Amino acid sequence: MSNLIYINGKLFPKEEAKVSVYDHGLLYGDGVFEGIRVYSGKVFRHEQHIERLYESAKAIALEIPMSPAEMIKAVEDTVKANNRTDGYIRLVITRGPGSLGLDPRKCQPQVIIIVDGISLYPPELYESGLKIITSSLIRNHPNTLSPRIKSLNYLNNIMAKIEAIRAGCLEALMLNHKGEVAECTGDNIFILKKGVLKTPPPDAGILEGVTRNVVLELAQQAKIPTQECTLTRHDLYVADECFLTGTAAEVIAVTDIDGRTIGTGKPGPITQELRRRFMEYARS
Ligand code: PMP
Repeated sequence: MSNLIYINGKLFPKEEAKVSVYDHGLLYGDGVFEGIRVYSGKVFRHEQHIERLYESAKAIALEIPMSPAEMIKAVEDTVKANNRTDGYIRLVITRGPGSLGLDPRKCQPQVIIIVDGISLYPPELYESGLKIITSSLIRNHPNTLSPRIKSLNYLNNIMAKIEAIRAGCLEALMLNHKGEVAECTGDNIFILKKGVLKTPPPDAGILEGVTRNVVLELAQQAKIPTQECTLTRHDLYVADECFLTGTAAEVIAVTDIDGRTIGTGKPGPITQELRRRFMEYARS
């Protein structure tokens, strides 16, 4: 059966789900989005994703034409209409169709909800760990578009991803404008050093990941000390363990950065324990 896509209150079969070529989402990357998982029939951390969506929209002065409660219901109804108990939701709000200039005043925002499956990395990489490189591109400078906005403008992350692919890797580390570790192109980054779990704080120029925050909570429950602190590439190279978190990636070990083997070169015990706890929590 074809997926059913929600556009502005109506469901369309995938083949018939279309938006205008004048949509400023397409013309200028003007809009915001969320990626959300469904586990065992439940939308994971639904309120947090919707809150971040509305904050992103507010930051780009885009008024979503429905309330957060209506949005939550629309997402849940679309998941049900697609008979999905496990899957991935892509929620996209575009500025909407307007003229060919940048002026957004004539645009009517569009709400699009796609429910599908996703697999970001091949399953064997969850056993062996990922090899990553540092990108030459920095994550957004805070005086441009804040990295805390999940906007439709992902071009510098895509350029970093292309660098990674050309170097034979699937993911790239992005630094901030001060040369500190920010995050990867679509995931947050953690290290373990001498028993302490460390990750950059939101003001390092990251998207504050929902999965990141869940992993910090799970680590605290497991009595693993956690610290949000500035990290440099050196900290990563000499870490005992390293892993990434994200809605699509979930929790995945990193075992090589810029040709340096991390720890033993295999997913570390704390990484494996946190991945186990995360999957158990998500599916409960
Ligand atoms: N950083 C970036 C740049 C991302 O696009 C994502 C994916 N949304 C993340 C981090 C991870 O965030 P989350 O755990 O909320 O999916």
